[in-house]
Amino acid sequence: MQQTTCYTRGGSAWIPNYIESIDVEKCLGCGRCYKVCSRTVLELIEKPFEGEDEYGDDMGNKVMSVANPDDCIGCGACAKICTKKCHLHTAMV
Ligand code: SF4
Ligand code: SF4
Repeated sequence: MQQTTCYTRGGSAWIPNYIESIDVEKCLGCGRCYKVCSRTVLELIEKPFEGEDEYGDDMGNKVMSVANPDDCIGCGACAKICTKKCHLHTAMV
Protein backbone atom coordinates (compact mmCIF):
# COMPACT_ATOMS: atom_id res chain seq x y z
CA MET A 1 0.00 0.00 0.00
CA GLN A 2 1.30 3.42 -0.93
CA GLN A 3 0.18 6.96 -1.67
CA THR A 4 0.01 8.34 -5.18
CA THR A 5 1.18 11.88 -5.80
CA CYS A 6 -0.39 13.76 -8.71
CA TYR A 7 0.28 17.23 -10.05
CA THR A 8 -1.94 20.10 -11.11
CA ARG A 9 -1.39 21.80 -14.42
CA GLY A 10 0.60 24.43 -12.58
CA GLY A 11 2.87 21.81 -11.06
CA SER A 12 1.50 21.73 -7.51
CA ALA A 13 1.44 18.27 -5.91
CA TRP A 14 -1.81 16.82 -4.52
CA ILE A 15 -2.75 13.44 -3.08
CA PRO A 16 -5.82 11.73 -4.63
CA ASN A 17 -8.35 10.31 -2.19
CA TYR A 18 -9.91 7.21 -3.73
CA ILE A 19 -13.42 6.02 -2.91
CA GLU A 20 -13.42 3.05 -0.59
CA SER A 21 -17.05 2.59 0.45
CA ILE A 22 -20.44 4.27 0.89
CA ASP A 23 -22.44 4.10 4.11
CA VAL A 24 -25.74 2.64 2.88
CA GLU A 25 -27.40 3.34 6.21
CA LYS A 26 -26.93 7.08 5.71
CA CYS A 27 -27.39 7.25 1.93
CA LEU A 28 -30.61 8.88 0.67
CA GLY A 29 -30.26 7.55 -2.86
CA CYS A 30 -30.44 11.13 -4.16
CA GLY A 31 -27.96 10.45 -6.98
CA ARG A 32 -25.95 13.67 -6.55
CA CYS A 33 -22.63 11.87 -6.23
CA TYR A 34 -23.38 9.81 -9.32
CA LYS A 35 -23.98 12.98 -11.35
CA VAL A 36 -20.70 14.64 -10.39
CA CYS A 37 -18.50 11.56 -10.87
CA SER A 38 -16.78 11.74 -14.24
CA ARG A 39 -15.50 8.15 -14.11
CA THR A 40 -18.58 5.87 -13.92
CA VAL A 41 -17.42 4.57 -10.56
CA LEU A 42 -20.78 4.78 -8.77
CA GLU A 43 -24.08 3.02 -9.37
CA LEU A 44 -27.54 3.20 -7.78
CA ILE A 45 -28.66 -0.21 -6.56
CA GLU A 46 -31.62 -1.66 -4.73
CA LYS A 47 -31.36 -1.00 -1.01
CA PRO A 48 -30.09 -4.09 0.83
CA PHE A 49 -32.46 -3.34 3.75
CA GLU A 50 -35.87 -1.79 4.40
CA GLY A 51 -37.05 0.67 6.98
CA GLU A 52 -37.79 4.23 7.99
CA ASP A 53 -35.46 7.13 8.69
CA GLU A 54 -35.30 8.97 12.01
CA TYR A 55 -38.39 10.99 11.01
CA GLY A 56 -40.47 7.88 10.32
CA ASP A 57 -40.39 8.43 6.55
CA ASP A 58 -39.98 5.62 4.08
CA MET A 59 -36.29 5.54 3.14
CA GLY A 60 -36.97 4.76 -0.50
CA ASN A 61 -35.62 1.75 -2.31
CA LYS A 62 -32.24 2.81 -3.76
CA VAL A 63 -28.77 3.48 -2.40
CA MET A 64 -25.48 4.37 -4.04
CA SER A 65 -22.78 1.74 -4.39
CA VAL A 66 -19.16 1.61 -5.55
CA ALA A 67 -19.48 -0.40 -8.74
CA ASN A 68 -16.08 0.27 -10.36
CA PRO A 69 -13.57 1.29 -7.68
CA ASP A 70 -10.58 0.77 -9.97
CA ASP A 71 -11.78 3.63 -12.22
CA CYS A 72 -11.73 6.20 -9.40
CA ILE A 73 -9.27 9.07 -9.85
CA GLY A 74 -9.63 10.24 -6.25
CA CYS A 75 -10.98 13.69 -7.09
CA GLY A 76 -13.26 13.84 -4.04
CA ALA A 77 -16.20 15.41 -5.89
CA CYS A 78 -18.62 12.73 -4.66
CA ALA A 79 -17.83 13.44 -1.01
CA LYS A 80 -18.06 17.19 -1.54
CA ILE A 81 -21.60 17.04 -2.97
CA CYS A 82 -23.01 14.54 -0.46
CA THR A 83 -25.05 16.19 2.30
CA LYS A 84 -25.02 13.01 4.40
CA LYS A 85 -21.25 12.44 4.38
CA CYS A 86 -21.64 8.84 3.21
CA HIS A 87 -18.34 8.40 1.37
CA LEU A 88 -15.20 6.88 2.86
CA HIS A 89 -11.99 7.58 0.95
CA THR A 90 -8.40 6.40 1.18
CA ALA A 91 -5.17 7.81 -0.21
CA MET A 92 -3.62 4.35 -0.25
CA VAL A 93 -3.50 2.19 -3.41
S1 SF4 B 1 -24.87 12.09 -2.59
FE1 SF4 B 1 -24.77 10.95 -0.64
S2 SF4 B 1 -26.91 10.61 -0.07
FE2 SF4 B 1 -26.90 11.14 -2.27
S3 SF4 B 1 -26.78 9.13 -3.36
FE3 SF4 B 1 -24.67 9.89 -3.08
S4 SF4 B 1 -23.99 8.87 -1.17
FE4 SF4 B 1 -26.23 8.79 -1.20
S1 SF4 C 1 -13.48 10.42 -5.93
FE1 SF4 C 1 -14.05 11.33 -7.96
S2 SF4 C 1 -13.70 9.66 -9.43
FE2 SF4 C 1 -13.76 8.72 -7.40
S3 SF4 C 1 -15.89 8.08 -7.11
FE3 SF4 C 1 -15.70 10.13 -6.22
S4 SF4 C 1 -16.28 11.56 -7.87
FE4 SF4 C 1 -15.85 9.54 -8.83
